[in-house]
Amino acid sequence: MNQPPGSVRSAQELVREEILALDAYQVHDARDMVKLDAMENPYPLPASVAATIGAAASALALNRYPDPAALDLRQTLRSTQNIPADAAIMFGNGSDELIQIIAMALAKPEAVLMSVEPSFVMYRRIACYTRMRFVGVPLNSDFSLDFQRLHDSIEEHAPAALFLAYPNNPTGNLFDREALLRIVDENPGLTVLDEAYHPFAQSTFMDDLLEHPNLLVMRTLSKLGLASLRLGFLVGAEGWLSQFEKVRLPYNVGAFPQMAAASALSDNEALKKQAKAIRDDRDAMVRQLRERAITAFDSDANFILFRVPRAREIFLALKARRVLIKDLSPTHPMLENCLRVTIGTPDENRRFLIALDESLREAV
Ligand SMILES: *Cc1c(COP(=O)(O)O)cnc(C)c1O
Repeated sequence: MNQPPGSVRSAQELVREEILALDAYQVHDARDMVKLDAMENPYPLPASVAATIGAAASALALNRYPDPAALDLRQTLRSTQNIPADAAIMFGNGSDELIQIIAMALAKPEAVLMSVEPSFVMYRRIACYTRMRFVGVPLNSDFSLDFQRLHDSIEEHAPAALFLAYPNNPTGNLFDREALLRIVDENPGLTVLDEAYHPFAQSTFMDDLLEHPNLLVMRTLSKLGLASLRLGFLVGAEGWLSQFEKVRLPYNVGAFPQMAAASALSDNEALKKQAKAIRDDRDAMVRQLRERAITAFDSDANFILFRVPRAREIFLALKARRVLIKDLSPTHPMLENCLRVTIGTPDENRRFLIALDESLREAV
């Protein structure tokens, strides 16, 4: 390793400027904390599912590469998820990977990846990773869709892909269905509706796929209660997915996630019950926040966005009380003084509210 002096080039020199400028994606250490920051399901895996997975795990041929087509999982999805028979399915290592695959395939020079703002941060980050030009179209101040503005931006920028989260993260709301369908029809590019929070929303675009050939629906098992599996799926026209399949790395979804996801989805009554409990607790939490004269935004997801004076102080005071939520203030001007709390177990929710009351008194 004897290099002549001056020949070693540093990361600073070789890494792309836009990557140097990025902050690393932040994950807080949440050991021994009430963890309400990442939209995880707080409940353990239902016992019957855990038993099935445990038994099947020992029979997995871990010496072999996983089934590249994930046929068992594919079949389970088709029999449990109301996927139109003519639509194709593609799997990702989380839906984050699917966003990245779509972007890699569409990243012609100057191609635009569009979304609304504030929304899911990975759309912007992945546009950066893949050298797409990101255009974020502001929402209205109540976080509803600014239809005219989105319409005009689509005309101006002709995005290769438009990503819209339904419900939106971090705001929690569902955009108007009819407005979204008009946008899908007007957008000459691809529209991807990201239904990551589908288990908590009573609305989907899955049934609209066949009438809208440039529409794809993306989902994940992460928010349902299987975040650790890293499994997302994309549904839509074969013409799109067959191109994206070429960009997908072989064996991107391991044998264990394939088997565990198939087991969980074919025995999903208990998971559905957990989602229902989370929805009910969410609605109760919105009421409880509003009773405290806190601005809490309507949510169709498993989290609530709320606004308090001095959000940073409140966030830190909660953290000092071992309750971890998310401070969104620094992420976008429209989210000034906004915090986001994930719905936990009833006990966790209670502890959050007690800590919040103490923190609000402390921060005055
Ligand atoms: C959490 C989230 C995802 C990412 O999910 P993974 O499948 O865990 O990668 C995608 N989209 C939105 C809007 C999310 O909130």
